[in-house]
Amino acid sequence: MAYSVIFRFYGHLNDLVPEPFRARAHRIDIKARRSVKDAVEGFGIPHVEVARLRVNGEDVGWERVLERDERVDVYPPSLSLVPEDGATLWTRPPEPVLFVADVHLGRLAHYLRMLGFDTVYETPDPGDPQLLATALKEDRVLLSQDRHLLMHGSLQHGCLLRSRDPIEQMKELIARYGLARTARPFSRCMECNTVLTKPEPTLLDQLPDKVQERYRNKPEALRYCPTCARAYWPGSHWDRMIGYLREWGVALS
Ligand SMILES: [Zn+2]
Repeated sequence: MAYSVIFRFYGHLNDLVPEPFRARAHRIDIKARRSVKDAVEGFGIPHVEVARLRVNGEDVGWERVLERDERVDVYPPSLSLVPEDGATLWTRPPEPVLFVADVHLGRLAHYLRMLGFDTVYETPDPGDPQLLATALKEDRVLLSQDRHLLMHGSLQHGCLLRSRDPIEQMKELIARYGLARTARPFSRCMECNTVLTKPEPTLLDQLPDKVQERYRNKPEALRYCPTCARAYWPGSHWDRMIGYLREWGVALS
């Protein structure tokens, strides 16, 4: 029995739906009785991108079956769009937020680590089952641009990045998870995710002459990765990073 229902999407969900549905209510034909979950996923929207569903103005769960001419309002995880009093399908991950990024998001993973966020990122590609298992077992937010990966039913925390630009992707994450508040810039190794430590006194001797000169009297400004033996120091590389922090609204503590 074919019938039609009306869908209205809010906020950044409009990035994900076909043009006739963007920012306005639009009718869609449904071939057989379907749950809200099936209908929303039919738009290619993973469940982790939805915080609240309302049918005819009432909060519903994913399994609610749609009837003829009903109106469905679909809200993204955004504090301004999801009133606190409503039944929320989306749970905020514990803070500080932990991430696992798929193989295509290497630069984003590096930027997250630069801000101090524990981010699992592996090459070669560990594969979808491994990414999902890591997200579930360690309560991490799975980051991807693959809608099908994020539609996996067991996934609790996930984020579908919209932009292809890693700088813009950081802005998306900072807005959704309030990362500017909990960031600890330059506290974690960008290459291997290990928390940086203060260097051993002998480290200075292994660094380029210019760096040795500059930090001879203030070695405490250096940071060291005990896993991959990299040294980090304020310099031209950091200046560029500090420019990014400003753009993202993250304070250098
Ligand atoms: Zn390292």
